[in-house]
Amino acid sequence: MAPDSINTIGGEITVNGRTYKLPKQPTVVVCIDGSEPGYIEETVKAGRAPWFAKVMKEGTNLLADCVVPSFTNPNNLSIVTGRPPAVHGISGNYFLDPETGKEVMMNDPKFLRIETLFPSFQRAGCRIAVVTAKDKLRGLLGKDLKLAAGKACSFSSEKSDKASLAENGIEGVNALVGMPVPDVYSAGLSEFVFAAGVKLMERDRPEIMYLSTTDYIQHKHAPGTPVANDFYAMMDGYMAKLDALGCTIVLTADHGMNAKFGKDGQPDVIYLQDLFDGWLGKDKAKVILPITDPYVVHHGALGSYAVVYCADPAPQIAKLKAMEGIEAVLTKAEAAARFELPPERLGDIVVVSTKHKVLGTSAAKHDLSGLTEPLRSHGGISEQRVPLICNRKMTAPAGSHRWRNFDAFDLALNLVA
Ligand SMILES: [Zn+2]
Repeated sequence: MAPDSINTIGGEITVNGRTYKLPKQPTVVVCIDGSEPGYIEETVKAGRAPWFAKVMKEGTNLLADCVVPSFTNPNNLSIVTGRPPAVHGISGNYFLDPETGKEVMMNDPKFLRIETLFPSFQRAGCRIAVVTAKDKLRGLLGKDLKLAAGKACSFSSEKSDKASLAENGIEGVNALVGMPVPDVYSAGLSEFVFAAGVKLMERDRPEIMYLSTTDYIQHKHAPGTPVANDFYAMMDGYMAKLDALGCTIVLTADHGMNAKFGKDGQPDVIYLQDLFDGWLGKDKAKVILPITDPYVVHHGALGSYAVVYCADPAPQIAKLKAMEGIEAVLTKAEAAARFELPPERLGDIVVVSTKHKVLGTSAAKHDLSGLTEPLRSHGGISEQRVPLICNRKMTAPAGSHRWRNFDAFDLALNLVA
């Protein structure tokens, strides 16, 4: 990919093959983790989100498709690069690294193959602020940013007390926000992101801000439930403050969320490693779940997408295709083409389960003790629809274009008044 070019006369930059106007006012993109369509609408219906009510009527209210696998890392990186995983390289939260043969988290910035938009906007003279709920995303999102007080910062709620000028471009975050470090399993972890966004906008007025939350609430509470409505009502208040500060705000999600349990209230799981062990012999095939995360309390590492490494995949693909609960079974090449994924970071088979089913490895390997509510999860095609909302009106009709969540910066900078 050619390096970014800056056209100062036109006030535009081209990054990763897409052109963006430089911001005329502070531009905030919010990734609401796990925000399936319906959460915001239900809170509006309950009369608890006056800002959203106004924006969805008078601003821009679209639906978009996220990247499959509908997981956090691939989608956050698509939103901040403007490109699919085939280009940026982040194919899951977790993968089998072909260079080392080891299973690792995909949090290391070395796995990101292109720059995010942020260094280019910084070189064009913009102040940048990146705030995430969990620290695991910070390294990827802040890659290549020149951190400096008041100019560029990148930090998480989770480690807000550890933020330093050298590592994060900011210190004294808790004093600035007026909140202590929240529990990693709480709505407070996301609230901290919004509260920090407002304080930073008041103090430093960054031209480009990216706020990314955690889906702890969405994993446990469906749209319209009291806890979900409380969460979106809380968000509504912070968005109203950013709006009052003159920001263009685009909100989208990294993925949706669906109920994944049976009539008995237990997770409805297809344990793929157990299946393959039965078909081929123990450990002849290797099942990898790219949802895997150290924070398993939300979902017990159960999602609707898995990759399988095995010799001679064709007969296994045929067996999987005949099974109930399987939405798609694809070869590596088919999956790479259909979902715009990097083939060298996929297994030999890609499996996607249906809306209310999840995929596991072996039954014995999943710790489901943290599931205090019936399982809600994501990863599949059934969680691809997400909101794409802006507090300003589009300058031209939206048309029948297939919107992606990674059009968020394009919408904010190029397509609204
Ligand atoms: Zn997520």
